[in-house]
Amino acid sequence: MKPPSWSSGSCWELDSDVARLHRSIDSLGAILADTLQVRTSVIGDGFLGGALWDAGVVGNDYVNTCIILRDSLRWMVQHPGDTLAASFTHGELVEIRAIPRGGRGFYSISFEPGGGPVSWSYVRQEEWTRIRAVTCTVTSTVWESLSEGGLPRDLTPTGSILTDRDSTRAIAYVTELQHELTDRLLAFDIDFYYDVQVGDRVHLLIEEVRYPESSETGFRRILAAKYEFAAGRIVEVFPFYHTPDSSDVLVLDHYHRDGASIRTMFLKMPVPFGRISSPFSGSRLHPVLGYSRAHNGIDYAAPAGTEIYAVGDGVIMFRQSSGGYGNIVRIRHGNGYETGYGHMSSFAAGQAVGTYVRQGEIIGYVGSTGLSTGPHVHFEMKRNGQFVNPAEEILPPVDPLEGDELVEFQAEVRALEGFWARMSEELPDPPEEAGGA
Ligand SMILES: [Zn+2]
Repeated sequence: MKPPSWSSGSCWELDSDVARLHRSIDSLGAILADTLQVRTSVIGDGFLGGALWDAGVVGNDYVNTCIILRDSLRWMVQHPGDTLAASFTHGELVEIRAIPRGGRGFYSISFEPGGGPVSWSYVRQEEWTRIRAVTCTVTSTVWESLSEGGLPRDLTPTGSILTDRDSTRAIAYVTELQHELTDRLLAFDIDFYYDVQVGDRVHLLIEEVRYPESSETGFRRILAAKYEFAAGRIVEVFPFYHTPDSSDVLVLDHYHRDGASIRTMFLKMPVPFGRISSPFSGSRLHPVLGYSRAHNGIDYAAPAGTEIYAVGDGVIMFRQSSGGYGNIVRIRHGNGYETGYGHMSSFAAGQAVGTYVRQGEIIGYVGSTGLSTGPHVHFEMKRNGQFVNPAEEILPPVDPLEGDELVEFQAEVRALEGFWARMSEELPDPPEEAGGA
C-alpha cells in the first residue's frame, strides 16, 4: 500500500556530489548576509531566558519576548533542542523566531527597528515531501560520512551554509539521519562500535520535507537502507506501509528481504542513555516512604528533560498525574503487554489518550514528579495484567509479513532494487590517454 506522499513531490535524484553544496555564494546570499544578521541559540536545558540572552535579546525586548511567547502565543514548555533565531538589521532587532524541535512551524515576533514588538503569530509551514537517493562511502566515522555525502544541496535557501542557523540545521539534519540509521533501522543487525570499516558503503532512500515558503529542506525519515560492508556482507531494510491490528492508521515499518521485521517488539530501555538506579525487586526499602515494598519496575536515572521513548508500538491508555507515580503514561501493546513510564516532568506535545504511538516515539520527558528523590523514569511492564521484570522478559519479535502483505511487499522490493542498482553503479575508469608525444 502506498501513501499519497509517494506520488506527490519530485523525483528520485542522485545527489552524492557534496562539492556542489559548497559552490559559490550567490549575490542574494551575500546581500542578505551583509545587512541581515541572524543570531541563533539552541535551548539546552529548557531554559528560555538563557537562550534569548545567547541570541542577543536583552532589556525590554527580552521581557516583552518572554511575555508574548508564554502568555500570548501559549508556548508554555521548552525542550532541549528547540531553537531561537533573532534577526537584526544594522544592529536593530527585527524578528524573533522560536522553533520547536521537530515542529512543523515556528513562533514569530516582529519588532519595529528601534521600537517594540508590533505583531506576533504561529506560522504553520507549508510542506511537501520528496524522496532522495544517496550513497556514502565510510571514510572515518559514519557521522562524518553522512555529513559529507548525505546533506541535500538545497538544505538552505542559498545552497550554502551562511549563518549560524544554517549550520545548526545542517548538524541537526545529519544527527537525525544518523540516529535513524544506526540507532533504529540497523541497530538490531550491525554493531556500529565494532563492525564498521573504512570502505563500507551506505545506500539510502531518504524522505525529506521541503518548505516552499523558506526554500528549506528538512529530514523526515529513511525509507530504505542498504549497508554494504567492504568485506562483502550486506544488510538491507525495506519499507512497507500497513495498518496494525490495534489501530486504523497507516504506518511505515521496515523489514528484511524475506519479510521478517527488523526489530523486536520492545526497546531495551525507554531513555537514550541513563543508568539503572533501582532494579526490579520483590521487596526494597522505599527511599521516600521509608518502608519496604515491592519495586514493580526499573528506575533509570537521567537528567531532567531527557526524552522518554515508547518502547514498543501501542495505544496510550492513560496520561495524567497519578499519586506517587507523578505524571505517568501507560501504553497498551499487542500480545497482552502494557508499559508504564512514571515521574515525567511533562508529556510530549500532540498526544492524548487513544493516540497510537510508534516504538521509539517521544512520549514525555524525564522529571521527578510524584514520590521521587531525583530525576528518573520509573519503567514498568505488565503481561496479561501481571507485573513482569522487563530485564528478564524474553521479548518477542514483531510479527513478520505474511499472505497478501508479503506478496505486495516483495513486488515493492523488486521496484526499489531498480533504484538501488542505479545508485550502486560505479563510474567506469576514464579511458587511458592514448598517444602523447
Ligand atoms: Zn521506580
